[in-house]
Amino acid sequence: MKAITLEPGKPGTARLEDIAEPDVRDGSVLVEAVAVGVCGTDVEIVEGKYGWSPPGKTRLVLGHESLGRVIDPGPAKGFKKGDLVVGIVRRPDPMPCSNCAVGEWDMCQNGQYTERGIKEIDGYMSERWRIEPEYAMKVDPTLGLLGVLLEPTTVVAKAWEMVAAVGQRSFWDPHTVLVTGAGPIGLLAALIGVQRGLEVHVLDRATSGPKPELVKALGATYHSTTVSSLDFEPDIIVECTGVGQVIAESIGKVGAGGIVCLTGVGTGGATGGAAIADVAAAAVLRNNVVVGSVNANKRHWYKAAQCLARADRDWLGRLITRREEPANFARALARKPDDIKVVIQFADI
Ligand SMILES: [Zn+2]
Repeated sequence: MKAITLEPGKPGTARLEDIAEPDVRDGSVLVEAVAVGVCGTDVEIVEGKYGWSPPGKTRLVLGHESLGRVIDPGPAKGFKKGDLVVGIVRRPDPMPCSNCAVGEWDMCQNGQYTERGIKEIDGYMSERWRIEPEYAMKVDPTLGLLGVLLEPTTVVAKAWEMVAAVGQRSFWDPHTVLVTGAGPIGLLAALIGVQRGLEVHVLDRATSGPKPELVKALGATYHSTTVSSLDFEPDIIVECTGVGQVIAESIGKVGAGGIVCLTGVGTGGATGGAAIADVAAAAVLRNNVVVGSVNANKRHWYKAAQCLARADRDWLGRLITRREEPANFARALARKPDDIKVVIQFADI
């Protein structure tokens, strides 16, 4: 069968090649790949900056934003041929640490977790893949191809849960949320904000193209300005850019008792001259919290599937701005200005 593979750590090694059919030891549920989304992590892996091959192998099958159709459910109850499923990405570390031991592998403490398509387990960019039934999430069949958005939605489902958890420390009646960045993660964070009944604002550099339109279609407000120049103080900021200046301005802008949830991963960036103790003093005097959030556990996957099932199908469909064939994976990984989510489509749906 065909698969998109590469040698982690070595740029220029990605190719579409023939590999063996998935091993039954990889899971009792056999799945036909329908589509796999691509994101910045895939680009980093292909560029040799991230990623680890499975033990004893030199190449890794890429892909962690899956959507597939069950070919053979095996002995597992709860699945039947034709079900649309998405594979959970992370597996608990083998120790396991206390968080992995209770199923919170997203909070792994020792970093020895593994991840399909990223860290030591083959991913989902192959014509067929196998999965353990407990790591296969069924998606609403009416979502069709839109089920490929589940993995990025899990990231924001967890971020929203973090915000809610911090909010429980005191009486909390939030009204406004600012989402920085209108990529897939930002737009899905905005979707959940609307579903939670909040007044949602989204900030991004783009002044035209699909981003402003998608924000408006949600009933949210779009801003193509700086965070500092906004004329209100958000109760919640979900930061999805990873850009130093945006993060610094977000921490300064959030209202008293506010929560800044960081989901973007970047490097460097000026701090705008704010010294650490000054930032800390502002947080102390206003009871602000900055919380980081990464990955998702099974509870977040379940919640994310509920969010997608509730969402407007046309709006979700507009997030998928490009579909490419597996042979054109390099084109899928090359970002174009109006791209939001690009998927590699393995089979018709
Ligand atoms: Zn762990």
